[in-house]
Amino acid sequence: MPDLPRNAESDQIVQDAAVIQQELASELKYRLAKVPERATEDDWLVAICMVVRRRMVTALLATQQRQRAQPAKKVYYLSMEFLVGRSLVSNLLSLGMLDAARMAMSNMGLDLERIADREHDAALGNGGLGRLAACFVESLSTLGLPGMGCGIKYDYGLFRQEFDGASQVERADFWDGDHSPWVIERADESCIVNLYGHVEEHHALDGAYRPTWVPGATLLGIPNDMPIIGFGGRTANLLRLYSARASEVLDMGVFNAGDYVRAVQHQISTETISKVLYPSDEPSQGRELRLIQEYFLTACALHDILREFSDSGLPIEDLPKRAAIQLNDTHPTLVIAELMRLLVDHYHLLWDVAWSVTQATCSYTNHTLLPEALERWPVELLTRVLPRHMQIIYEINSRMLEVARQRWGDDDARVAAVSLIEEGPTRHVRMAHLAIVGSHSINGVAQLHTELIKQSLVPHFYELMPERFNNKTNGITPRRWLAQANPELSALFDETLGPEWVVDLERLRGLARHVDDSALVQRLARIKRANKERLARYVHGTMGLVIDPASLYDVQIKRIHEYKRQLLHILHVIHLYLRLVDHGHDIAPRTHLFAGKAAPGYAAAKRIIHLIRSVARTINSDPRCRGRLSVVFLPDYKVTLAERIIPAADVSEQISTAGTEASGTGNMKLALNGALTVGTLDGANIEIRDCVGPENFYAFGLLAEQVGAMRRDGSYRPSDCVAASPALREVLATLVDGRFESDRGMYVPLRDELLHRDHYFHLADFDAYADVHGAIADDFKDERTWHRKALHCMTHLGHFSSDRTVREYARDIWKLAHA
Ligand SMILES: *Cc1c(COP(=O)(O)O)cnc(C)c1O
Repeated sequence: MPDLPRNAESDQIVQDAAVIQQELASELKYRLAKVPERATEDDWLVAICMVVRRRMVTALLATQQRQRAQPAKKVYYLSMEFLVGRSLVSNLLSLGMLDAARMAMSNMGLDLERIADREHDAALGNGGLGRLAACFVESLSTLGLPGMGCGIKYDYGLFRQEFDGASQVERADFWDGDHSPWVIERADESCIVNLYGHVEEHHALDGAYRPTWVPGATLLGIPNDMPIIGFGGRTANLLRLYSARASEVLDMGVFNAGDYVRAVQHQISTETISKVLYPSDEPSQGRELRLIQEYFLTACALHDILREFSDSGLPIEDLPKRAAIQLNDTHPTLVIAELMRLLVDHYHLLWDVAWSVTQATCSYTNHTLLPEALERWPVELLTRVLPRHMQIIYEINSRMLEVARQRWGDDDARVAAVSLIEEGPTRHVRMAHLAIVGSHSINGVAQLHTELIKQSLVPHFYELMPERFNNKTNGITPRRWLAQANPELSALFDETLGPEWVVDLERLRGLARHVDDSALVQRLARIKRANKERLARYVHGTMGLVIDPASLYDVQIKRIHEYKRQLLHILHVIHLYLRLVDHGHDIAPRTHLFAGKAAPGYAAAKRIIHLIRSVARTINSDPRCRGRLSVVFLPDYKVTLAERIIPAADVSEQISTAGTEASGTGNMKLALNGALTVGTLDGANIEIRDCVGPENFYAFGLLAEQVGAMRRDGSYRPSDCVAASPALREVLATLVDGRFESDRGMYVPLRDELLHRDHYFHLADFDAYADVHGAIADDFKDERTWHRKALHCMTHLGHFSSDRTVREYARDIWKLAHA
């Protein structure tokens, strides 16, 4: 139990609780038309959300009034994904009414936590990129900076993961945004979005080229606002999610053009546009609907940006004085072509003027180095869906190539390398190149990642425009990932440091004075133990599995991807199992916890899940493993599940092949909750290790430059690793000898990939990984030293607050006042 609040606050809480109680009763009666005896938990959930919503609306209106009274530059964070999760508890926490709400409900015979557990996650994102966007919007509000998140209100967010035996099954996850208490529909601010059609060539009297885009289809973009309240409740910025609706203009326009049948043939029914979030790692090339979604977001967002700007009365050339547009990955890159189109075709700016306005307004965050994940759209598709934009992209390209030729003469290879157009049997537009040339800032999300962007991803652009490249290491909001997810730990911080750490995470440094305070270290150990027991109860309740809270909880939770190397982790588990049952070695008790979704079309990732689940089944039912080794794959990884698992972790697995993980944020969440990291020197792991010190970080494996060199010279022979490692030979044999799967062929492709190619260097790192885990197991035996290390780490992790990250964006890229 968290300690009781101090007395001075208690009176206030009692008063607040009385008010909340009244409001709850009133919501139940007048909104839901129910008497308390007939109300379900879902009714109470709506009632308490409505009570909170009142305060959110008040904060929102006050924020908007302040911002109108003192116009300032504002950032628009464009992202196809916002992985928000639940909102009730985080809103209560930000408004400072969590304890009062708990008391009010308890007075009415209700349990806040139970009711809050009924809320559906808003899963409008795939993973790290979408969660980052959600953390950023929250930090903007907490910092009191003017900003707006712009995204899509998908009806169906990321799929729900279920299992048929060991196989992942995807189920639709409907998010009822239309009836969410956190969403305010703004039909009065809807805008028109055009698609298809053709461009008619015209020239003005002065000879200027004045093309007209005659669209073939038109739809409506409806804003849906989610106020995001900052901690302390002073500022609420908007997360504005657009949904698509058929427009009456559409039918008339199409009808008049006599184009009705063709429009129907496109089979793009307007309402399907915001229907579903695309899972990442699915090939999106040729997916017309995804392209339209991306354009839909940029067109709606720009409409709002320009409408807000027009209130300023400033000339359009001054747009960058009032608006910064951040592109979260290349997905919203069409905003560059759309802004150029509006400035040139509608505002009639000269091309060069329009271009400098666009560049000064836009900035781009790169999130991936994996070549297959870089967005490319077929020229043919873009020409058909957005004919005027394709013209503009060609014009941008020809001017950029001119500059490149001036620089490099007739070094055609270099010039071709920077082209926006990739030549080949089908020509494609390289969205990253468009994002780079149209932005004044290009940033990576961790130091190593930014270096790799400059040196290997786009070295020629770096040569052309080095001043545009910069690093902004990711962060996470300590409100959700500490205060909300780990209330007991945060109560300990409150007591030891005062409450300000929640908005100033660097204050965790104050814990340094306490690393030798054995009473405090013991409390930390008790908190971790209680969190582990809570997770054990959850695992038992949902999966019927018994896990031992005294064992080491070794946690890997993230999207399932070959580069993240869940396969390396499970190979090591198999190794431990063989030591235990075949070789009769004892091992210290440990529980391996996995969670994560594989993209529906990603066969290799689904096979890895299948292997983990099958190994888990074998190990958990083998009596020789009892009390020593268990393996759990928790279904349906999402924000709420992350909040449950993270406070209970002892070890955080961050084991991507060096040079592949851009940053990672799961690594930050786990470390801040007192897990020690076993990790490669990749992404933000490197900076975490720098902060906590190498003696508190279990590093292993090849370095990015070694992996890079072996990839380039083709010198890696996975079979040599097998020849040198009897342990590895044994482990690989189990993939095909039927030990874990009656269907013997199932894992042959996994084994063959490892033996013959091993693109992600699992085998090269295996022995080092097993060794470092030996050291971890030894260290974990000395509980006192272990928790002291964990405490020492937390002390040095203030850097990874998204408040720090957002301040850096605001100061260096967006140039917001008071940043
Ligand atoms: C933080 C988070 C991620 C990102 O995890 P990584 O380990 O950085 O890949 C993905 N999904 C959810 C639900 C998260 O909370």
